[in-house]
Amino acid sequence: MDYFFNRKTAKNMSYLLNAFFLCIHIFFLVFFTYFHINIMACINIVSVLFYLSSFMLIKRGGLSKYIHLTALEVILHMIFAVICLGTGYGFQMFLVCIVSVFFYAEYFSIRLNDGGKGKVSGSLLSVLSFVTYLELYIVMYGREPLYSINDRVRLYMCLITSSITFSVLIASLKIMTMFFLRNEVRLSKQAEYDALTGLPNRHFMIKYLNALLDKNEADGYWLAMIDIDNFKSINDTYGHNFGDKALKALAQILTDEKHDVTACRWGGEEFLISGRLMEASRVPFDKVDGIRKQIEEYELICETENKRVPFTVTIGGAAYSVEACIEDWISIADKRLYVGKYNGKNRVVV
Ligand code: GH3
Ligand code: MG
Ligand code: MG
Repeated sequence: MDYFFNRKTAKNMSYLLNAFFLCIHIFFLVFFTYFHINIMACINIVSVLFYLSSFMLIKRGGLSKYIHLTALEVILHMIFAVICLGTGYGFQMFLVCIVSVFFYAEYFSIRLNDGGKGKVSGSLLSVLSFVTYLELYIVMYGREPLYSINDRVRLYMCLITSSITFSVLIASLKIMTMFFLRNEVRLSKQAEYDALTGLPNRHFMIKYLNALLDKNEADGYWLAMIDIDNFKSINDTYGHNFGDKALKALAQILTDEKHDVTACRWGGEEFLISGRLMEASRVPFDKVDGIRKQIEEYELICETENKRVPFTVTIGGAAYSVEACIEDWISIADKRLYVGKYNGKNRVVV
């Protein structure tokens, strides 16, 4: 199935995230070195090495290991940063935005079936992050940080950490929204289309006809039920796959632009088509019979038997009659279809 997030997307997003973290830590390394906060400078050297080597880890597909190590790195890093400089620089904010990364990672690990033991728990890592966040405020309450720079630097750093936090949150929620929208389109397409023929299905058609009724436009339309003749025998003689081939061929004929009809696979070997009336309350017999003839003339070839297989349909049509609901309208067409079957098949009854 075509998921929005496949293995390649997961890898690419992990590379991007890792590159982003690497850049942040290089920036921190410069920052802490410049202000002689040596403990943090050393920690950042380790972090930079970790993110550099993580490219290899991601390449080898260790997504879950990568996320757990990243969580550990971010949590430890922020604990030391806050102890060194206090909460005024906003380092603890990274513990907030990393939460979205944890849930993405959980999604990836489930979707890509990374296996039971390798699964990422977004909730667990988030709670860990949250507890660390609270702990930092509690631990630093009434306690002076180990280092102090000046108010201006503190303000700039706070603006930078806030901007990074918001950027990560905005980007991750934007991607999530795109994912929801794309998935909704995919699911609604799946729900309203037939996988074999690619035609809309019964649900789509009922919605379409109801919309005509709601707009009081139904009396300008006709519909017709089409049923393949002796389809069971086609299946029995030439096989189910060949039957499928016939269904696809019929779908192709019905969607031919020249017919200008809305077609759906009603179910099994039955199709429903609908079009605009040329004359009030009269199904355009010639047009519908033209479709029937095109099907009759279609060369349905069974290659394994090197034989042309008789391929015909019976069609029952009905124009909309005042006050009828969709079910009644279809039922009139259905009854005429059975009249056609009863009278020898391969014909149109309107
Ligand atoms: P009639 O001319 O009276 O319509 O007879 P029929 O044999 O066409 O009708 P019947 O209802 O007896 O058989 C319909 C067959 O359609 C039975 C079923 O196996 C087949 N069928 C339904 N859906 C599919 C499908 O998706 N693929 C294939 N190959 N066959 C299908
Ligand atoms: Mg049938
Ligand atoms: Mg049939």
